[in-house]
Amino acid sequence: MKVGLIDVDGHHFPNIPLMKLSAWHKAHGDMVEWYEPLFSGHLDRVYMSKVFSFTEDYPYHIRADEVIKGGTGYCIETINGMERYQKDKDIKLPDEIEHTYPDYTLYPKLCTDTAYGFLTRGCPRNCLFCHVAAKEGAYAVKVSELSEFWNGQKRIVLCDPNLIACKDWQSLIQQLIDSKAKVNINQGVDIRLMTAEKAKMIKRMKIDSIHFAWDRYEDKDVVLPKFRMFKEITGWGPQKTSVFVLTNFDTTIDQDLERIYTLRDMGYNPYVMIYNKGSTNKNDVVRQMQRWVNNRRIFHTVKRFEEYQV
Ligand code: SF4
Repeated sequence: MKVGLIDVDGHHFPNIPLMKLSAWHKAHGDMVEWYEPLFSGHLDRVYMSKVFSFTEDYPYHIRADEVIKGGTGYCIETINGMERYQKDKDIKLPDEIEHTYPDYTLYPKLCTDTAYGFLTRGCPRNCLFCHVAAKEGAYAVKVSELSEFWNGQKRIVLCDPNLIACKDWQSLIQQLIDSKAKVNINQGVDIRLMTAEKAKMIKRMKIDSIHFAWDRYEDKDVVLPKFRMFKEITGWGPQKTSVFVLTNFDTTIDQDLERIYTLRDMGYNPYVMIYNKGSTNKNDVVRQMQRWVNNRRIFHTVKRFEEYQV
C-alpha cells in the first residue's frame, strides 16, 4: 500500500498521530511519504491531520483512493463565538495504532534526541473555554507507559492536559524521574491540584520547563498559596516556570493585568493567551498586552503596561 501524510498545521511541532500511523504502516510493509501535490503520484490512502482549529484546511487536490481527515482541528467548530467539540467529526486512532511507538524520523530536526507523547488523557475540570473534557473524558486517566513513546532520548516533551489530576500521577512522575531525561511539560499543569508531595516529586524530575495556568480570575484565593508553595519547595526561577494567563474570555483588562503583575512579583513568567472569541485586531488592548508580556525582554524592561502603550 502507498500511504501519504499531510500535516495540515505545518511542520512546526511533530504531529503525534501521523508519527504513529507512519510507524504502523511501515511495520506492515507499506510505503509512507509526505504527500506532495506536485510530486506524489496517485496513492492508496492519504491521512490528513490538523491539531489547531484556526489552521486553514489543506488547499490542494489530493490524488488518492481514500483520504482520512483527523485531529482536534477538524472536530472543533466555532459556534456563536464559542469553540464547540463535534463528536461526529472526531476520528480516533484504532488502539493498535494508538499504542505504536512513533516514527520520529518524520521530523528529524524536531525529534533529535526528543520523545513526544501523552501519559494521560482527559481532565476533570471541564472549563468552558476548553474541549479536553468533552473530547477525551471528564477525568484524567493513564493511557500509556513512558516506554511506549520514549526509548532513551535525552529530552521528553509531555503533552498531557492534566497529568497531576490522574490517580496514577505518582508512578508516572516516577517514570519521568527514572528516565533522567529533560522533561518539558508543555500543557498547563493544574496548580489548583498541587500539593507539597507532588511539588517534591516534580522537583526530582529534570525539568526543562513547566507551565501552569491561571485562567479564571476568581481562582485567585486558591492558586496564590499554591504558587507560593511550589516556588518555596522547588526554588525554580521564572525561566523554568511560566503561567498561561487566559484573556479575552470573561475577564477585564484590569483583572488580566492583576494576574500578570502578581505572577511576575512571585517569580513566575506570565504568558498571555487570547481566547479566540470574535476577531481581535493588532491594535486591540488585549493584543498589545500579549505582545508586551510574551516578549520576555520587553516585559522585564518595561515594568508597567501603561509605559509600553505610550
Ligand atoms: S484544566 Fe486545562 S485541560 Fe482541563 S478543562 Fe480546564 S483548560 Fe482544559
